[in-house]
Amino acid sequence: MSKAKRAKLIQTILDELYANPAIPLSHSNSFTLLIAVLLSAQCTDLRVNSITPQLFALANTPEAMVLLPVEQIEEIIRPCGLSKRKAHAIIDLSRIVIDKFEGKVPSNLEDMETLPGVGHKTASVVMIQAFNLPAFPVDTHIHRCTKRWGLSEGKNVVQTEKDLKALYPKKSWAKLHLQIIYFAREYCKAVKHDPKQCPICSLFILEDGN
Ligand code: SF4
Repeated sequence: MSKAKRAKLIQTILDELYANPAIPLSHSNSFTLLIAVLLSAQCTDLRVNSITPQLFALANTPEAMVLLPVEQIEEIIRPCGLSKRKAHAIIDLSRIVIDKFEGKVPSNLEDMETLPGVGHKTASVVMIQAFNLPAFPVDTHIHRCTKRWGLSEGKNVVQTEKDLKALYPKKSWAKLHLQIIYFAREYCKAVKHDPKQCPICSLFILEDGN
């Protein structure tokens, strides 16, 4: 089966399994989404969602966030890990958003990636989930799955992002990146996967006869 055909088939299966994948991180605007994504580094979405209500009740805008003592932010976000570094990044990026971007999270990758604590993946998530602008954020789940599916050489996430953008039309990126994450969490874990039981690879096994 060609890579393009395989990609299309996988997309069809993902559409059946996850017709309307929800954005996993709770948020109410682009700023709170940015903060939630920043907090999710090396932390589960579940844990982030358990602490952000308390933080966002105190501050859901950069203007309100800079008024909070950094120690208070650190205390609230402690369960997410790396709390000192993340708390400082939250305060610093809030200040920059106010001073440089008139209080609005910039809606382009270049500017967003200049913010403290915001790398390419975080910026891509906010671009596509908050602004509906084309981006394909690749996390470890997407990297692992698409390598196993033979959709990417998978040497690194930069290459994987490039390969996936070439395989799938822009309009599908928003849904697809969430669908792959949901699938990876449910079926395609880092260890112990059973190709015979798997909704995706079982088809390839039948098709390829291996
Ligand atoms: S068998 Fe399923 S879980 Fe394993 S690599 Fe294939 S898609 Fe992922």
